[in-house]
Amino acid sequence: MKYVVVIGDGMVDEPLEELDGKTPLQKAKTPNMDFLAKNGTCGMLQTVPPGMEPGSDVANLSIMGYDPKKYYTGRGPLEAASIGAKMKKDDIAFRCNFITCENGLLADFNAGHISTIEAAQLIESLNQRLYSYGKFYLGTSYRHLFIYNDKTASQLKSTPPHDVVGEPIQEHLLKVGEDADKSVENREVLNNLAQKLNELMYKSFDVLGKHPTNQKRIEDGKKPGNMIWLWGQGPQPQLPLFKEKYNLKGATITGVDLIKGIGTYLGLTNIHVPGATGFYDTDYCGKAKYALEALEEHDLIFIHVEAPDEAGHAGDIYEKIKAIERIDQRILGKLIKGLPSMDDYALAVLPDHPTPINIRTHTSNPIPYAMYTPGCRADATEKYDEPSILKSFNESSKNIMEGYKFLNLFLNLPKSSENTKNE
Ligand SMILES: [Zn+2]
Repeated sequence: MKYVVVIGDGMVDEPLEELDGKTPLQKAKTPNMDFLAKNGTCGMLQTVPPGMEPGSDVANLSIMGYDPKKYYTGRGPLEAASIGAKMKKDDIAFRCNFITCENGLLADFNAGHISTIEAAQLIESLNQRLYSYGKFYLGTSYRHLFIYNDKTASQLKSTPPHDVVGEPIQEHLLKVGEDADKSVENREVLNNLAQKLNELMYKSFDVLGKHPTNQKRIEDGKKPGNMIWLWGQGPQPQLPLFKEKYNLKGATITGVDLIKGIGTYLGLTNIHVPGATGFYDTDYCGKAKYALEALEEHDLIFIHVEAPDEAGHAGDIYEKIKAIERIDQRILGKLIKGLPSMDDYALAVLPDHPTPINIRTHTSNPIPYAMYTPGCRADATEKYDEPSILKSFNESSKNIMEGYKFLNLFLNLPKSSENTKNE
């Protein structure tokens, strides 16, 4: 048996006035997702454990079968693994965004989706001018990394920039974390550290604000990447290998460094798809094509698509619906058509977390999943969308499942002949 999990990042949403009370998933034409829901098993999953930030890192770690409460140390170190930034024992990796600062406000968390080529020029200047603080590593587009050699930095509280768009930068700088060791001595150390790293963020404005690359962007009517934003920091996590935990050879297909980073720690093959961008313009068909090829040598593939999450952050209903339809037709549809025989395969579809259009950021609400293999038990769900799955879920005796248990259920999909009790 072989397995494919299709993850539409941030895909689920809330009913929208603009869609006459429907969600983007309801509005989108998704015959293939509906096929999985109608003929397979559906349910609700808590991918973000209570008390944790609803990040894609936490949520995807859950989906891949690892309890974030036990294994998660921060987003930075996961991305470090993906871009090949080596971490020493006392190193703390921060996610480093290029942002647009306008009049002291955080105007854009992604600097107008700055290109990787432009970002490389900015990273080079940061390493030349601000090397005394630590080292900057190039990632993709606006998503980069900063490694700082002092493990106490993990006790600072940082803020995801996409949560504070339009707000004063001054109010969301690094500060002493609520769960930090509160001894007077440690407090002073942490305060000084926060001050030093906040100073680094402001100094980056001096380096980047007048940078030729940004001047050119402004001339072209684009937003400049005129400041860095440090967040999501942590030390290296200790994760058991996927092969050892599940006895399966797994792979990821994604345009996002974070997911590749998780894959690297888990010992999964990160399959490079040339047109995978982590944005609306990603090569959906390419992802399906590479997945079909990779299934010859792998037992399980996680195909991750970032586009619906980006549309959620942008508050763009049209792009969200389009991304969902493309996942359905160009990935799921192509897989169903292209697999040698469905009998030997199981398919699942789900988001990692909701990214509702109206609030333009992630929530921790439970998410709906659908999973299918020929001969599996079908429950009463007709379509893959929020109200349909919630309705059949509420009518069933199922409980909301903890996110990290999803994979085990998928690997042992109940057959139609099996007893339905005790689920
Ligand atoms: Zn996500």
